[in-house]
This record gives sequence, C-alpha cells and structure tokens, in this order.
Amino acid sequence: MDFALSDEQRMFQQMFADFATREIAPRAEEMDHAEELPPELLRKAAEQGFLGATLPEEVFGAALDYVSYVLLMEALARQSLSFAVALATHISLVAMSILEHGSQAQREEWLPPMADGEVIGAFALTEPDAGSDAAALQTRVRLDGQEAILNGVKTWVTNGESAGLFLVFAQGAEGMEAFLVPRDTPGLTVGYREPTLGLRSVSFNTLYLEGCRLPLAQRLGEPGSGWTIAQRAGDRMAIALAAAGLGLAAESLNVAAQFASERVQFGVPIAQKQAIQNYIAEAAIEVEALRALLYRTAWLAEQGGDYSFDASAVKVFAARVARNVTNRMVQVMGGYGYMEDYPMARKYRDARMLGIIGGPTELHRVRVARHIFAERDLAIVP
Ligand SMILES: Cc1cc2nc3c(=O)[nH]c(=O)nc-3n(C[C@H](O)[C@H](O)[C@H](O)COP(=O)(O)OP(=O)(O)OC[C@H]3O[C@@H](n4cnc5c(N)ncnc54)[C@H](O)[C@@H]3O)c2cc1C
Repeated sequence: MDFALSDEQRMFQQMFADFATREIAPRAEEMDHAEELPPELLRKAAEQGFLGATLPEEVFGAALDYVSYVLLMEALARQSLSFAVALATHISLVAMSILEHGSQAQREEWLPPMADGEVIGAFALTEPDAGSDAAALQTRVRLDGQEAILNGVKTWVTNGESAGLFLVFAQGAEGMEAFLVPRDTPGLTVGYREPTLGLRSVSFNTLYLEGCRLPLAQRLGEPGSGWTIAQRAGDRMAIALAAAGLGLAAESLNVAAQFASERVQFGVPIAQKQAIQNYIAEAAIEVEALRALLYRTAWLAEQGGDYSFDASAVKVFAARVARNVTNRMVQVMGGYGYMEDYPMARKYRDARMLGIIGGPTELHRVRVARHIFAERDLAIVP
C-alpha cells in the first residue's frame, strides 16, 4: 500500500494551487457578489488545460489521471466552490459522457472545443416534477424520420448562461434518451436564472424545449441508454463534488486557524483556548478522513470497473464534512465569520449545496444501502 502522490501528481498539485491562488483567490468575493464567472477566468483555466482535464490528448485534453483530477477540483474549490462546480459540470457530466458514449463524429465535433473552452457544457436532467426521481421525467422525444423532436422543461441547469452545449435527457419510445443540443438549436430557450443561497457565481437556469428539432445523429449512445449515461455521469460527478467539498473544508480550516492565531481576546490569541482548539482539531480530523476516502475512491475509479458504492459514500461524507467544518469555522471566527466582507460566510453558504447538488444525500445513502443489502439478496429501491 502506497499513500504517496507520484512526482507528477505533486507537480500538478503545485500548479493547480498556484493558479487558484493567483487567478481565483483575488476575485472570488467579487465574483460571488457580482454573481458571475468571468469569461476571462474560464479562458485562463482553458489555457492551462483545465477544461479538458480528463480528456485524452487526441482531442486536446490534458489526459489527467483521476487522482490528479481530484487534486484539481480540490485546489479550485479552496478558492471558489462556484468555479469548481462549473468546471465539474462541464468535464464530469458532459465532456466525459461524450467521451464514454459518443460516436467518433460526436467526439471529434465537441471535445476539442470543450477542451479549449470555446464550448461550455451543461447537463439537463432535472425537471420541476422529477428531482430525486429523475426517471419520472416528463420531457418527451418523438422521432420523425432522421430527426428527433424534444418537448419539455428542465430546471436548475448549472452553467445555463454560459453553456454552448446541453446534454438533455428525455423519455422516448425505447426508454430514456440523451441528446447533444447546441445552444442555437431552434426551440431551445435558456430561461429564468434562480437566485441561490450559495454558489452565486454559477448560473442555474430553467431550460425550455418547445418543438426542439435536431438530427437523430445528435443522440448520445445507443437507443434507450439515457439512464445508464446519467448514472455513469452521476458517479463521476459525485467524486468531483467530493473533491470540491474537501477543498472547501480544508481552506475553511486554514482560514480559521490563521484567524485564531491572530485574534487576541483576554490577552492571548483565541487559539490558546481549548474550546477553539477542539473546533480546529475536529475539523482537521474530518478533513484528513475525507482526504483518505476521496483519494482511495479516485484511485479505484482510475482502475475502471464499478465504483458507484464508493462514489456515493464519499459524496455523502464530503457533504457532511464540508457542512460541519464550515459551520465550526464560522464559530471560531465569531462575528467575523458571519460578515460577508470575510470569506467564511461565503464558504458556509456554499457548503450547504453539497448535500443536494449531484443528487441529495438521502438518495446516495440509498445507493450505499443497496450495495450492502445486495449481499443479502434484498433489492433496495428509493
Ligand atoms: C444549485 C443546484 C444545481 C443543480 N444543477 C443541476 C444540473 O446542472 N443538472 C440537473 O439535471 N440537475 C441539477 N440540479 C438538480 C439536483 O440534482 C436535484 O435538486 C436533486 O437531484 C434533488 O431533487 P429535488 O431538489 O427536486 O428534491 P426532491 O426530489 O423533491 O427531494 C426533496 C427531499 O426529499 C428527499 N427524498 C426524495 N426522495 C426520497 C427517497 N426515495 N428516500 C429518501 N428521501 C427522499 C430528498 O433527498 C430531499 O431531501 C441542481 C440542483 C440545485 C439545487
């Protein structure tokens, strides 16, 4: 058993941290208040190869292994969870789905522009009446010769404002289907942007599909493979979100520990007080436990095969750790933790999302339980 990162992974880790500190940290608060992700920041990330992080070199990706990808998400989320979630959606949900399920023509058409940031991806599964129960979606696809016609409404589509390509799920005659729908397709409208508690630099939009007609060649995968595509994407996203949760929690600990060593009350830095030490120690223990579970899960994913149990487990744990740690670190910082002029308030708001986005904690627990009871020949349904 070897817990050490390779020399190359350590080099990447340093490079990701440099980028996040230099490019994201100085503008993270401003991005949050302005509720936007500056296009030039995405361009700079693309120049570093981050937008095609796990794509192969043939399509101009950076061909990162899974552990390095996790290191990237962790580093970005240390400064902005919004930025990490926007990239995870683009890479884990959309680009990797095209790589895994796309035809040669689809890969050649979409992956190079996605790797260089010319096209941003968005994933449209959830609907007003199909959240956790995504299989109950009402969006329909009807085939008309060599064309498909989509009708329905999607909600909370991450990257809605910036996306050039939407991976849209719809119910067809042969089951759930997935389609690659470019933004300029007639009948597709990007609508209302939801105001949110956290993750304010990312847009979450309603998507309307009204007689949206596109060539059948834009279907992703085999007929009826939409559910499998969504599940596989969900596993990848769970790991990316867990990595983002680790970055958020680790940086919150870092910020609060620094504060505690500088803030003087009763004549000494508050770090000298055992109550504060307890908060800091508990946070450090949870962060390191998450790191170990996450890196192991990333390693498993790199080996291939089914890692859905591990992906769900680490997503549940990361959401809990991020929430616990940010909550305690607000307490360590007292009033300064609550003020929007200091970074902890944003981190606390952002952390809450990790238990919902990418499938809520309750549903990931069902998936974990399913594996446990499968060994006892008991089928578990949500
Ligand atoms: C900010 C944000 C961004 C998002 N981005 C995207 C995106 O880009 N693309 C996309 O397709 N979707 C996206 N989503 C949707 C997200 O994946 C769903 O919100 C999520 O799957 C849950 O659906 P819901 O919110 O409708 O909750 P509901 O399904 O209504 O659930 C409400 C509560 O009931 C619980 N619950 C439901 N069923 C069960 C059950 N069987 N057992 C136990 N508990 C249950 C849930 O866990 C939850 O706590 C986003 C959501 C948010 C909030």
